[in-house]
Amino acid sequence: KFNTTLGQHILKNPGVATAIVEKASLKPSDIVLEVGPGTGNLTVQILAKSVRQLHVVEMDPRMAAELTKRVQGTPEWEKKLQITVGDVIKAPLPYFDVCISNTPYQISSPLVFKLLQASPPPRVAVLMFQREFAMRLVAKPGEPLYCRLSANVQMWAKVAHVLKVGKNNFRPPPKVESSVVRIEPKNPRPTVSYEEWDGMLRILFVRGNRTIKSAFASRAVMEMVEKNWTTWRALQDTDMEMDDKGQNLEKVKTIVEKVLNETGMAEKRATKCGEQDFLKLLYAFNTNGIHFR
Ligand code: SAM
Repeated sequence: KFNTTLGQHILKNPGVATAIVEKASLKPSDIVLEVGPGTGNLTVQILAKSVRQLHVVEMDPRMAAELTKRVQGTPEWEKKLQITVGDVIKAPLPYFDVCISNTPYQISSPLVFKLLQASPPPRVAVLMFQREFAMRLVAKPGEPLYCRLSANVQMWAKVAHVLKVGKNNFRPPPKVESSVVRIEPKNPRPTVSYEEWDGMLRILFVRGNRTIKSAFASRAVMEMVEKNWTTWRALQDTDMEMDDKGQNLEKVKTIVEKVLNETGMAEKRATKCGEQDFLKLLYAFNTNGIHFR
């Protein structure tokens, strides 16, 4: 009956659903977004709370139909609930204050970034993930699971692990354990460009336990940096004389080297660096004309 390629693992323990909803600290004025309501075990607990509206996005029309049936006969719930059938990653999202989801695990990463880039971002998101994904979200610099995902999410939000959930709380049970995390987007949103930040982290974390200097020693990376540098220069200076590519590459190498040395980041490793290190480096690159988008 359940389509596990769509990540359909139904939460059968109502205690876990209650705990998830509690962690969202809902207010009567809240518009809530639930991703992947399935048969509605979490949905009914949200509807039972005093909230203004609940918008759910469910990919599987059979599940949406089952949920529609489940709220029939409770006019107050029918009024509050709006069902969209579709892929939450592709669908335009309505305004929402809070997101709650027992997430289909195959969309964990795109979902987190879609929520963080919502405008305005939600006050809070309480989301169930695979244990390992959850632990990567909260990992700190120097910890074994710290990676680009951790650095990225923690730049835009405060993240906390709030609950461990064993696989037997689901039907059918998934292969791995789960965890609930609470994500609170920073407000106001940092003014850094997401593309610049992520572009730089992609380079630094390719082999994150190598030095930052060696990340920039790659020819492919330097060619990309050179291309951006030339584009940005051309945008600023219309009279610019175009040097040939080989010369530009040498110039850019010199600038990168200078930035890495002046910031003291050359010998550091991305896996040990936090937000302040990355911000310092990005700022120095940008003021020297080096861009990552
Ligand atoms: N919320 C329910 C519960 O806790 O019992 C079901 C959770 S189940 C882990 C995930 C649900 O997300 C499934 O109903 C699945 O059909 C739906 N889903 C999968 N991919 C989706 C997507 N891209 N957009 C929206 N819903 C999706």
